[in-house]
Amino acid sequence: MKARVPENIRSIVPYPPGKPIEELEREYGVKNPIKLASNENAWGSSPKAIEAIGEALTNLHRYPDGSNYYLVQAIAEKVGFAPNEVVVGNGSDDIIEFLVKAYVEPGDEVITSHPSFLMYQKVVQVRGGVNIVFPLKGMHHDLDAMLEAVTDKTRLIFLDNPNNPTATAINPGALYAFLSKVPETVIVVLDEAYRDFMDPELQVDMYSLIHNSKERCGVVALRTFSKAYGLAGIRVGYGLMSAEIAGYLHRVRQPFNVNQLAQVAAIAALNDTEFYQKTLDGTRAGMEWLQKKVETLGCTSYPSQTNFFLIDVKGDATALYEAMLRTGVIIRSMKAYGYTNVIRVTVGTTEENYRFFHSLKNCLQELGYVS
Ligand SMILES: *Cc1c(COP(=O)(O)O)cnc(C)c1O
Repeated sequence: MKARVPENIRSIVPYPPGKPIEELEREYGVKNPIKLASNENAWGSSPKAIEAIGEALTNLHRYPDGSNYYLVQAIAEKVGFAPNEVVVGNGSDDIIEFLVKAYVEPGDEVITSHPSFLMYQKVVQVRGGVNIVFPLKGMHHDLDAMLEAVTDKTRLIFLDNPNNPTATAINPGALYAFLSKVPETVIVVLDEAYRDFMDPELQVDMYSLIHNSKERCGVVALRTFSKAYGLAGIRVGYGLMSAEIAGYLHRVRQPFNVNQLAQVAAIAALNDTEFYQKTLDGTRAGMEWLQKKVETLGCTSYPSQTNFFLIDVKGDATALYEAMLRTGVIIRSMKAYGYTNVIRVTVGTTEENYRFFHSLKNCLQELGYVS
């Protein structure tokens, strides 16, 4: 075989797949490992969504509704946008791809931060675009540096707000000032995967940002059902944007990009305010408990606007990650991101948080990180 692979594809570092939990059980001989590594919903999924999926199972021989009619309608009503300003995707990852496919040609520039969500850079590279990447400044997006880097080749700026993995949110005043200076030829994408968990005072008015873009950049908001709505496994997210941008995204998407079960599950989840509130309350309580408890161990916890947070464990984070893995607790080491002594943990259920705390305590002692 002599098939030629373009350089932009050859140089992509594949997304490191985590092992299935069942494999970890076998390999490490641990019982019931808990996963606090992917910012998923600790309380499962909305029971109403599960019921809706059950009812839809008799219809799997049919193609899904390619216009996502009822889901778009439900989202539009919930967020106060017009249906033609809502685009749904197979996860919000899908919308990131549509944006890059629609707006980026080989050689065009896209501005992002590092560390932030890795998908942005990857899809740009697949498209042959050029990633212009700025290190975070004090764990926040460096908006001044980004603004200065805008050229006539810049097409998109990706900002996850709050940022993953640092859990920091952009100061709304600073964001408005930034947006007022970005040229009209650029689209700023605000990825609000964790908006639900934010302090309401830090949540920006997306309606006015998207509808008042005369003589400045366009704005797109990304939202997901993977976190607060507990549907990461079925893949559904959406974007809010002008009808004009939405029209271009529809041109590049597959006709049936959101499966039938995802559509009914998302509608049911949107209407399940009880499950949603339980998630927010449980996350807040769990976050408070965990942040206090880890401080008693001599660690430092960083403030969070999400359902996860960073902890300075005062020693090599990857060694700690491995030690905790052997106790059946899965977290993330931030060492590869340049934070040598920092781990990231997702808030779990009360029981999971308790197990996490005890594993952390024992492993810190075993490794001699704290006296
Ligand atoms: C989890 C997450 C998402 C969600 O992606 P989906 O494809 O909707 O599951 C998007 N952006 C960020 C920053 C995230 O952390």
